[in-house]
Amino acid sequence: MTPILLTPGPLTTRPETRAAMSRDWGSRDEGFIALTAEMRRRLLSVANGAGSHVAVPLQGSGTFIVEATIGTLVGRADKLLVLVNGAYGERIAAIARRLRLPHEILTWEEWQPVDAARVEQTLASQPAITHVAMIHCETTTGLLNPLEEVAAVVARHGKKLLLDAMSSFGALPIDLARTPVTAVMASSNKCLEGTPGLGYALIEQSVLAAAKGNSPSLSLDLHDQWRGLEGNGQWRFTPPVQVVAALVEALRLLEAEGGPEARLARYRRNCRILVEGMGRLGFRLFLDPAHQAPIIASFHYPTDRPFSFEGFYQALAARGFVIYPGKLSKAESFRIGCIGAVEPADFHRLLAAVGDVMKEIGRAA
Ligand SMILES: *Cc1c(COP(=O)(O)O)cnc(C)c1O
Repeated sequence: MTPILLTPGPLTTRPETRAAMSRDWGSRDEGFIALTAEMRRRLLSVANGAGSHVAVPLQGSGTFIVEATIGTLVGRADKLLVLVNGAYGERIAAIARRLRLPHEILTWEEWQPVDAARVEQTLASQPAITHVAMIHCETTTGLLNPLEEVAAVVARHGKKLLLDAMSSFGALPIDLARTPVTAVMASSNKCLEGTPGLGYALIEQSVLAAAKGNSPSLSLDLHDQWRGLEGNGQWRFTPPVQVVAALVEALRLLEAEGGPEARLARYRRNCRILVEGMGRLGFRLFLDPAHQAPIIASFHYPTDRPFSFEGFYQALAARGFVIYPGKLSKAESFRIGCIGAVEPADFHRLLAAVGDVMKEIGRAA
């Protein structure tokens, strides 16, 4: 039995998406060049970026596109401000250290959203900062950071916002015609419900055009990747052809579903059923519900009963549900995702399984 993946990715995909991977493509085939062009056009349209941004895909997981974007857009003479309230913010700080880029870090607790007023004070007192990096939905907890407020502050100070929208793109609203964001980074296998293997950045065209020669890396240079694609429609190096075909199918399915708004509505239903049902079974949500995005939910370990994550995980996996360990630095927790090709009925079945497993654990104790 194929399990249902309730994780931060890779996720459950639709059969049509997987079926799109069942043939071979030559990277120079006209048909594949057309698929790449359709993928780039559809990615831009998800975030309404066609008038201002270009879509640059890159082979690899999500972290590759984050590292590539930062390395391409932040130059040696620039300074990056990294906003950190979870493990993915920490990862951007680690990338900045590894690339030896001048940078500054602002941190919040894992349960606190980024505070735009504090970002504003920092930008006012440190004029050397040129770029600000933020995580849209911090997948560590499932927390939603205030994109509109932070984007407005960053733009008011004339700085460039780099947004890791890995776990939000395709569901939570991002409107590049309205919200000033220089670069949005995401991957094929989260809310777009494609298969894993590629990332992409939507980058303001004028900014990318000016970034020639910035990247210290040959394969992660998004300026060169973009120039290559614009030149002959082909990828510079071997493209993940089946992953591209699956992503195009997944993007068509997103449109057929009704676009990001309809997808968000489905994820919201999933998340509400999950959080309410887990609450009835005695599991406490880690975040204040006001900060919870309908992407992935973190739950505390129960304290009133014996509980081992390993046993819980295995018992649910045996029933066809794959959940995820927690990633919090200070609390014991586990996570259950609401995204992917999953529906309310899947969550009702999951909750029944969690109820059974907890009874079993209770009897064994
Ligand atoms: C998934 C994710 C990433 C990238 O993770 P990979 O394992 O490299 O795909 C980056 N940022 C956020 C917020 C994510 O959720």
